[in-house]
Amino acid sequence: MEHKIAVMRHELAALKKQVRSNEKIWSGFRKVEIDAIGADTFHQLVHGITTGIKSTFPKVDEASIACLNLDYEIVRIMAKREAPHDISPYFVMVTEHELDQWFPDSLQPVVGGCDVPTQQRLFPGCKRPLGSTALSPLIVSGKLIGCLAQGSYDRRHFSAEAGTELLAHLSATIALCIRNTVNIARLERHGLTDPLTDIPNRRFLERRLDEEIERCRRYGHPLTCVMLDIDHFKKINDQYGHSVGDSVLKSVADALCKGLRASDILSRYGGEEFVLLLPETRLVHGAKIARRHHQEIKKLQFKLQDQQRLSITISAGVAVLDKPPTAAGGDLGQWLLQRSDHALYQAKRQGRNRVIVAE
Ligand code: GH3
Ligand code: MG
Ligand code: MG
Repeated sequence: MEHKIAVMRHELAALKKQVRSNEKIWSGFRKVEIDAIGADTFHQLVHGITTGIKSTFPKVDEASIACLNLDYEIVRIMAKREAPHDISPYFVMVTEHELDQWFPDSLQPVVGGCDVPTQQRLFPGCKRPLGSTALSPLIVSGKLIGCLAQGSYDRRHFSAEAGTELLAHLSATIALCIRNTVNIARLERHGLTDPLTDIPNRRFLERRLDEEIERCRRYGHPLTCVMLDIDHFKKINDQYGHSVGDSVLKSVADALCKGLRASDILSRYGGEEFVLLLPETRLVHGAKIARRHHQEIKKLQFKLQDQQRLSITISAGVAVLDKPPTAAGGDLGQWLLQRSDHALYQAKRQGRNRVIVAE
């Protein structure tokens, strides 16, 4: 009898331990899930999920997210300079073909081991061979969009016997969060991008101008602004039609994009007017850049019907904000725009097809 009680006590203690461990796992999943729901950007989301999983579950040594290039937006998101976290060690962009290979039979988590090429592909930041892995499909509206990959150096950690219900639940939430942040990024981009030329619009420029003025104030770096305007553009529309005008605008935007540094900001400021903001650039250098663009645009040739060719010129005004006062006095961004606009006006008055620098 006493022996029986001892055995039961022992079993009870083991059960209690199991319950405590399950509770811990459950609350760990909940925490990762709540963080994912609260993430504002794609970078924050991926960073939060992967670091969250690793810190919450001690035996998970590696975690990463693989995802399709949803709406072509992921490539754009990844190219963003101002991204706060480098997610390259734990984010991979994958193809539909790869996803089909990893989940050939069903859209259920695949637990156990994975071959070396798959491991290298899914865990780019991992240098040692993993003992076991769990790949959970990320599904939105029945469509496979990616994979949540977890790896452990412990061979037995992710095993076929382990329950995958919690994992499936977490993956469903993550998939929705990914879809959501991509949608937000797309909407945001549409509101700040000019649909004809696909470069940032005036709203975007004004936002960035404020940020650059602030950086200028803090670090005392010069900020140069170039305002460019196509000469006699109205005539092109009148003579050859609106669609030729549109293609000229697109080509000018493409030409201006060439040779931009990562920190330069080009925008379509108005109809046939562009603004180029050059952070950490002195007036002399900014003027040189403006002259180079002026020459490049001159070289553009537009083929029209009947072997006709059209070339165009631009006028530009250049101004700089140097050593801004630290105490705010007036709107320095507007002051800079007005100065370059005034220089542009002078270029037009002096006969167009030239660059004027505001001294
Ligand atoms: P200036 O040399 O003084 O700059 O003369 P301009 O003819 O270039 O300037 P103006 O401001 O008189 O005319 C600009 C024209 O640009 C008028 C407008 O119809 C045209 N425009 C504005 N946006 C677009 C657009 O998206 N597509 C096309 N095709 N034309 C546009
Ligand atoms: Mg014009
Ligand atoms: Mg104009």
